[in-house]
Amino acid sequence: MIPFNRPYMTGKELYYITQAHANGHLSGDGPFTKKCHTWLEERTGAARAMLTHSCTAALEMAFILAEINPGDEVILPSFTFVSTANALVLRGGVPVFVDIRPDTLNLDETQIEAAITPRTKAICPVHYAGVACNMGAIRALAERYDLFVIEDAAQGILSDYHGQPLGTLGHLGCLSFHETKNITSGEGGALLINDGRLTQRAEIIREKGTNRNSFFRGEVDKYTWIDIGSSFLPSELIAAFLWAQMEEADAITARRLAIWQVYHDAFAAIEAEGLVRRPVIPDGLRHNAHMYYLLLPDLAARTAFIAALKAAGIHTVFHYVPLHSAPAGQRYGRARGDLPVTCNISDRLVRLPLWLGVEEYQEGIIETVIAHVRGS
Ligand SMILES: *Cc1c(COP(=O)(O)O)cnc(C)c1O
Repeated sequence: MIPFNRPYMTGKELYYITQAHANGHLSGDGPFTKKCHTWLEERTGAARAMLTHSCTAALEMAFILAEINPGDEVILPSFTFVSTANALVLRGGVPVFVDIRPDTLNLDETQIEAAITPRTKAICPVHYAGVACNMGAIRALAERYDLFVIEDAAQGILSDYHGQPLGTLGHLGCLSFHETKNITSGEGGALLINDGRLTQRAEIIREKGTNRNSFFRGEVDKYTWIDIGSSFLPSELIAAFLWAQMEEADAITARRLAIWQVYHDAFAAIEAEGLVRRPVIPDGLRHNAHMYYLLLPDLAARTAFIAALKAAGIHTVFHYVPLHSAPAGQRYGRARGDLPVTCNISDRLVRLPLWLGVEEYQEGIIETVIAHVRGS
């Protein structure tokens, strides 16, 4: 079976973990964590970067920093991973789900304004497949209504919006290094802080609500509990693993882009024949080939597609169950309208294997896909 995903290893992960072990600093914020922070700050231009256990953890920090109180509303897509909404619900916030654009499958910026109420506190755009949302329009709305912007850039490492890295377009940006993402530490993430006024509180929240970081810098003579928080920082062993991946992040992205382009070129003909729709990358956006997906005509066609590929030894997957239709989404959130695009897309989307090493199987995958959709 050709797997849907296979995490890539650079070969240096265990070497760096051995170094971390030899350093004797195993808890968080040691030398490898600092290397990862510096890399993220240099590559994104964020005022500060902080590693977390996951993008979920970064989102939880972000909603604390945005001072979401019970009953406050946040606008986000329903077509996303649960963490975008769950991190908010943990603060007592109410997810207000808005529909997505049919081209990029990102939050439809033209529908945000109608969802704003006096309780709206923030907008949380999700850069689906590492392709940027229309951040110009979203930031203009946020300024006009004085809203916080938290980017779910879980899929967006090394992508940009007209030259500006994803995760640096809002007040806060959240990245994921889960094993299904482009660069990985198994589980992992980072919070990018673009509004420098939030940095000090972010340090405290990440260190169990203490001013431990100020203490280590010699700014205070003891450290103590001063705010809410949790343990959001990963161990040095995780940072050492991640550092090996960061060192190769450009090469990894380049190889993923090449794989993505091979699929994209190969499927141009079946798109022209009206059998599938391919991903759309708007002009001026650099994406990171996080994902290759196809849109099939309907749910029955997608079910048959996944079964046919499985029979040919190729594992393909779909997502997301729209959050507004999920049990917790109905309990904790509300939708603005019927979200027709979200419902339609979630029935039709299928993701193809895209990982370093899939190249040797790609011709076979492409032939199987084309033969199946042409019914031959
Ligand atoms: C992967 C993902 C997350 C969660 O990331 P974790 O690091 O697994 O917590 C959140 N949002 C989106 C859009 C994702 O793709």
